[in-house]
Amino acid sequence: MQKRIYNFSAGPAVLPEEVLSEAQANLFSLPGVGMSILEISHRSKVYDEIHQNVKKDLRELLDVPENYEILFLHGGASLQFSMVPLNLMPPVNKADYIITGAWSKKALKEAKRVGAINIAGSTEAENFNRIPAQAELKLDPEAAYVHFTSNNTIYGTQWQTEPEVGSVPLVCDSSSDMLHKKIDISKYGIIYAGAQKNMGPAGVTLVIIRKDLLGRSSDSLHSMLSYKIHADNDSLYNTCNVFGIYIIGLVAKWLKKLGGLDAMYKLNQEKAKILYDCFDNGGGFFKGHALPDSRSLMNVTFRLPSEELEKKLISEATKAGFDGLKGHRSVGGLRASIYNAFPKQGVIDLVSLLNDFKAKNG
Ligand SMILES: *Cc1c(COP(=O)(O)O)cnc(C)c1O
Repeated sequence: MQKRIYNFSAGPAVLPEEVLSEAQANLFSLPGVGMSILEISHRSKVYDEIHQNVKKDLRELLDVPENYEILFLHGGASLQFSMVPLNLMPPVNKADYIITGAWSKKALKEAKRVGAINIAGSTEAENFNRIPAQAELKLDPEAAYVHFTSNNTIYGTQWQTEPEVGSVPLVCDSSSDMLHKKIDISKYGIIYAGAQKNMGPAGVTLVIIRKDLLGRSSDSLHSMLSYKIHADNDSLYNTCNVFGIYIIGLVAKWLKKLGGLDAMYKLNQEKAKILYDCFDNGGGFFKGHALPDSRSLMNVTFRLPSEELEKKLISEATKAGFDGLKGHRSVGGLRASIYNAFPKQGVIDLVSLLNDFKAKNG
């Protein structure tokens, strides 16, 4: 087998090696089926069993209550930016958005086409280096829902707990931290995530929706944009992403084998701590973008004393087999995305590379 490098990409991102090996072993022919997962009908009995098992495993991992539907949709997290307001905003036609980064702003842009939006909180003036405190939020108790982004992939900040929004349905874009720890699903109206950061390949979006909210989907909506139609058809209104859902299923099995989401969370905390400790003990050479109480466990963003040093570090790291460390242009510097599947050894090795670099250039 070919040697793999350390993949710090923000998305599509690293997958567990065990998952890739199993997918590879079964790609030519699913055991006992004689056809590839890439070739079978989404209406076949074989696929139906996979589909139901993936839902069952996700329900178990996340403790999804019975009054929630699990959907696999198309169009990425980006289509949810439109589907959420189209389905949920009428008839009151107003909603609250908490703006903590570039993805929140994209969600906001689509919501504004549907109704009146109240910006309930924003840290844009501080270049999104933190999550707003509960006391800063200006929530409208009559809003159709409150939307927030649990993990800000680009800025490297993360909500440590959900915002308190009373009885207004909470809607969350969890694209870059879904499945990184156990959460209380009953706090959410909808939580959604594109698969390609922490769950699987691009092309499938997980949507978990409280069933009573399906009643808000108007019959006048286009079928493919209606949560109700997708729920009524068990995500098989049209051809679902059979392969993507299959891979999410393998990832779910991998998580279960690891000990579930509590074990995953512990490992994620350990991995992130290794990096943040390196910054905190580095005498200011590495400067994290996120303020300490808003730090993300998934995307670790940091700067060096100069752009020249940042370029040099990225180039040396790439040569040494550490790929994808260049930060997003809106933050600059470096970003290490260390999702669930990213190995702890890779973080340890990155920190020794960083310390060597500091010793030579600091
Ligand atoms: C990547 C990302 C998106 C966009 O996902 P697509 O599946 O490409 O539409 C949305 N929100 C967050 C937080 C992301 O990290």
